[in-house]
Amino acid sequence: MKKDEIQFTKETNEYILSVSLRENENLKLLRFETEKDPNSIMQIPPEQGQFMSFLIKTINANKILEIGTYTGYSTLCFALSIPDNGKVITCDINKEWAEIGEKYWRKAKVDNKIDLKIAPAIETLTELIKNGASNSFDFIFIDADKINYEKYYEKSIQLVRKGGIIAIDNVLLFGSVINPSSLSQELKERISNEDILTMQNLNMKIKEDKRVDISMLPIADGLTLVRKK
Ligand code: SAH
Ligand code: CA
Repeated sequence: MKKDEIQFTKETNEYILSVSLRENENLKLLRFETEKDPNSIMQIPPEQGQFMSFLIKTINANKILEIGTYTGYSTLCFALSIPDNGKVITCDINKEWAEIGEKYWRKAKVDNKIDLKIAPAIETLTELIKNGASNSFDFIFIDADKINYEKYYEKSIQLVRKGGIIAIDNVLLFGSVINPSSLSQELKERISNEDILTMQNLNMKIKEDKRVDISMLPIADGLTLVRKK
């Protein structure tokens, strides 16, 4: 098929969602509550959550690491997709946002599977490595501050098991990796030139990274999947 035989217009995307999106009730309620927050643009869209849940079930993931909790929507997607004895370790520096999520983790009865770490993520990842958690995670989601993505990626490569997956979010940074001046005023306040440069460099680095198989998906704000060889 030629690349331009179908245009992914707004209508196409609406159709895709209308015939394929399924969203758990507690996820929906958490998404509605998060919409009241001016930062809700940071939350993954439900179809991305559904896709990552699919992936997690496909590889029978049990142990998940999330870097960037926010209000815990992606965290809840993960916890709902792993067995009862599974674990999601999720890292953030903002306790207030994570507390919104905690309410819904409890409502969905998966809070026992979630371990929230409030500290700079680099510290949590370094601690995990120090405590012998290298090569143990089945799935890692990188979605915190973009300036540290390179560091998160290297630590994640250490922490993920052979055959495990690292999903890196916002790899298109709203198009700014292609055209830095294309950002709206609102997004310019959120995304710095250093963020853009870090993401451009990481994208190029991953392309050449022989330690992993890769796939970059045009879902949401761009999602790169890497599988450790
Ligand atoms: N995965 C979430 C969105 C995460 S938004 C979802 O889909 O709903 C990015 C998060 O990274 C924010 O909550 C922010 O507080 C957090 N963050 C920023 N800097 C951080 C750091 N140094 N360590 C850990 N978390 C950080
Ligand atoms: Ca994100």
